[in-house]
Amino acid sequence: MAKRALRQVIEIDQGKTSKSKTTKGRRGGNVPRCGLCGKTENLTKTDCCGNWICDDEDNYVMFSFAHTSCNRNHRRYALCGIHDMEDHVGRWQDCQECRELYKTEMYVYFGTNEYNFEKLANPPKYEPTHCNSCNRVIRLGYEGYSMGPEGYSCQKCMNKKFGR
Ligand SMILES: [Zn+2]
Ligand SMILES: [Zn+2]
Ligand SMILES: [Zn+2]
Ligand SMILES: [Zn+2]
Repeated sequence: MAKRALRQVIEIDQGKTSKSKTTKGRRGGNVPRCGLCGKTENLTKTDCCGNWICDDEDNYVMFSFAHTSCNRNHRRYALCGIHDMEDHVGRWQDCQECRELYKTEMYVYFGTNEYNFEKLANPPKYEPTHCNSCNRVIRLGYEGYSMGPEGYSCQKCMNKKFGR
């Protein structure tokens, strides 16, 4: 009796694995995929550039601590999405308004981070931002920092100042 039950469980498990394997391993040209993370389920097209992207905005509201919404990331952190949200005209790649909207370093970040389908081809050069206290280079966009009247402060110095 117990033996039979056990076998049944195993069979069910095997069924599950082989099923998910076939969906995952399926290769083909016309299966739409999210251009950012590669998922093939629950997709929508972006308003700004018409690329396939996860229709996961709802996830974001529910688990707002996570940085996981492809759709939202593209709209908020990629120049393509920002350009569209700001109602600029023309292509974001050569939009002067976008260029002037941000400090060059942030402009380059928004144009080249992983939330872009197409990255900025020739990002402009910029002087790295240094921490006002320890002079360490702060990679704006990739790490925490604060900006005050005395300039930029890196996360470490911020913690030192406000921590404990
Ligand atoms: Zn995605
Ligand atoms: Zn876009
Ligand atoms: Zn623009
Ligand atoms: Zn510092």
